Amino acid sequence: MRVPLIAGNWKMHKTVRETLNYIRRFRELVSEVTDREIMIAPPFTALYPAGRELAGTNIKLGAQNAHWAEKGAFTGEISPLMLKECGVEYVILGHSERRHLFGETDEMIRKRLSGVISAGLKPVLCVGETLTERESGKTFEVLERQVREALSGFSAEELKALVIAYEPVWAIGTGRTATPEQAQEAHRYVRGLLAELFGKDFAETTRILYGGSVKPENIAELMAQSEVDGALVGGASLDPETFVRIVKYGG
Ligand code: PEP
Repeated sequence: MRVPLIAGNWKMHKTVRETLNYIRRFRELVSEVTDREIMIAPPFTALYPAGRELAGTNIKLGAQNAHWAEKGAFTGEISPLMLKECGVEYVILGHSERRHLFGETDEMIRKRLSGVISAGLKPVLCVGETLTERESGKTFEVLERQVREALSGFSAEELKALVIAYEPVWAIGTGRTATPEQAQEAHRYVRGLLAELFGKDFAETTRILYGGSVKPENIAELMAQSEVDGALVGGASLDPETFVRIVKYGG
């Protein structure tokens, strides 16, 4: 049984003050939710106060990236241990904005994943094809490369907390959502790949989230797909009144 995970990726939005105002409202709105996991990933600067404000609630704290080393001469980077101290539980890795705007490679993402796992944090590995790749029939090829390369060298035991987010790049921030059938097809492909790499049990227990213009209006039909185990939500997670409608899909 895979417990659904509804996660909000705030990207570069919200100051500390705005984060705290959001959390004080949102934690009331979702306080009764017990049958699914909820996570928010504010910017790095807000993580420590957010962690304190979320203590004792049913909302998990996520970060939007992490370096692989514990410390060192890596100007501008944040280590997994630093995140852990803030109360972070999940770390988003390989988001398409990191890949396409900041040049992160599959190899860098694999190293980041290794740092996150060593620190005992839970990775949310983002994968997804661009529009050109989809239109030229390369979707599965791209997903296979991203999954294989990011997960190479790890054991199923090391990856037991892994979450994968299928985020077609053409659907991120564009208002254009994958159809439930497109999501189901891509998730099924990724789950098949996980079975090949780490065994059937591993594949059956690993959650695969969908991300890309998820809204209160389309979450239920996406979650109705047997292979969709949750959502990674960008824009629509920035307003607590909107995000709660996504969290409470089907209710
Ligand atoms: C994201 O940033 O992971 C995302 C899916 O964004 P949006 O929901 O805004 O498309």
